[in-house]
Amino acid sequence: MIPAKQIIAQLDNPTEADRLLIEKAYEVAQKAHEGHKRYSGEPYMTHVASVAHHLAEMGMGPRTIAAGLLHDTIEDTEVTQEDVRKTFGDEILFLVEGVTKLSSVRYYGTDRHNESLRKLFVATSQDIRVLIIKLVDRLHNMETLSHVPEEKQQRIARETLEIYVPVAHRLGMGKIRKELEDLAFPYVLPSEYDKVQELIKSRAGKAEVTLEKERKGLQKKLADSDLLDFHTSSRVKGLYSLFHKLKRKDWNIDVIYDLLAIRVIVSNVDDCYKALGIVHDLWRPLPKRMKDYIAFPKPNGYQSIHTTVTTKSGNILEVQIRTQKMHHEAEYGIASHIIYKGKEHAKSSNSSWFANLAPSLFRPFAWREQRHTKTEITKEKPHYEKIPQWIGQIGDNYTKEKSTGQEFLDDMRKDFFHSRIFVFTPNGDVVDLPTGASPIDFAYAIHSEVGDHVSGARVNKKFVQLDTELKNGDIVEIETKKTAKPTTKWLDATKTTLAKRRIKASLSGENGKNI
Ligand code: MN
Repeated sequence: MIPAKQIIAQLDNPTEADRLLIEKAYEVAQKAHEGHKRYSGEPYMTHVASVAHHLAEMGMGPRTIAAGLLHDTIEDTEVTQEDVRKTFGDEILFLVEGVTKLSSVRYYGTDRHNESLRKLFVATSQDIRVLIIKLVDRLHNMETLSHVPEEKQQRIARETLEIYVPVAHRLGMGKIRKELEDLAFPYVLPSEYDKVQELIKSRAGKAEVTLEKERKGLQKKLADSDLLDFHTSSRVKGLYSLFHKLKRKDWNIDVIYDLLAIRVIVSNVDDCYKALGIVHDLWRPLPKRMKDYIAFPKPNGYQSIHTTVTTKSGNILEVQIRTQKMHHEAEYGIASHIIYKGKEHAKSSNSSWFANLAPSLFRPFAWREQRHTKTEITKEKPHYEKIPQWIGQIGDNYTKEKSTGQEFLDDMRKDFFHSRIFVFTPNGDVVDLPTGASPIDFAYAIHSEVGDHVSGARVNKKFVQLDTELKNGDIVEIETKKTAKPTTKWLDATKTTLAKRRIKASLSGENGKNI
């Protein structure tokens, strides 16, 4: 089990308070989960300690790490909200509750609602840190999925691919996305997984040796140039993303040019272009394969220069050139935008992380300057970051990466969450309703028969009036009675046309009968 010390060791210059906070959270979690076991038979604490360690490694701050340690306490142990509030304060309670709430967003195997689910997932989280904790939580659950009962594995793996992966992608978190994809792949598409494995085996052994030889050749060439600070590494394409590419290329692995890639990481943007010149001088570039994502970042903020080359020994491979900062962002995405290692809320009070992020998507050079200006930590009040609307478009750009910057800007402006809310059925299905909708709208959205016979409603387990306005994330239960039927009052208490139409029909039907 990862000890608290090892988690703290990941922080840059932690203060005494940071250290104490993490130790306290560790202690509380350990006591709370005492005797609980994972499916693997390991103490439950191994899970939360590993989540916290991963968060620390990503550069998240002490409060997020503490919330990572406590993320399963309210849901699974005797620890109450009040306990967390008293010991750790409102902000950490907010994060822990956010993660707890997210566990009710579940995937039930129908593709129809995936887009809503992704949006709901983001809307429910309310704070980007909640999403990050949840993604890291899921990563550890996927790493230990083999111990989970078989009937659960499918659902969890599918949910990972349908919900978590697109969210990670949209947040630019490349590392966790790739890991989640490759962990879920064999469970969701076992025969496809085997097929890809086999194809890659037929190539990879030899290819990796070749790749290493080529990397050294490039390394030497770069060392002979006047580049001061650089390093090179290589990577093999993730199996799941390879699978998608193979499908598009008729399963011909020979036309997949980025199966193997060499990465060149330099210290600044000028050096990226210098390095590109050196690469093209050493190896012949393939025409029209050069992509400058530094000048034109991908919608999720990804930056790098990609070029495909034929080496002197005739190998085709991709070279990816980026700065250290770009590399860090490609791996950790939004986490690297909002948090400087060890510092939470590293931003001035009037500029949201979103404002910091937005220019980076379109004006990389302005952004570069901005990144060098570290702002002070604001510690006065817990400041909850609001989710910007563009994250609500999660999934939109996942399949069509080619959308232009302008389209993307327009997407960002769409005020999605102002017009829709997402609520749950008691077993976790998601219902998408307009803002201001009531339990009656909800009942009609479930089924017209349910709507026609609503007799009562509970929201989050409490009885409410039928005209109560529902809020994002509410869990709604409807009680029905055969004798219950729509009244004219219901018309004022509903927002959806579906409900209004049914109510009117029912009212006029009644009238008809009475005459
Ligand atoms: Mn967990």
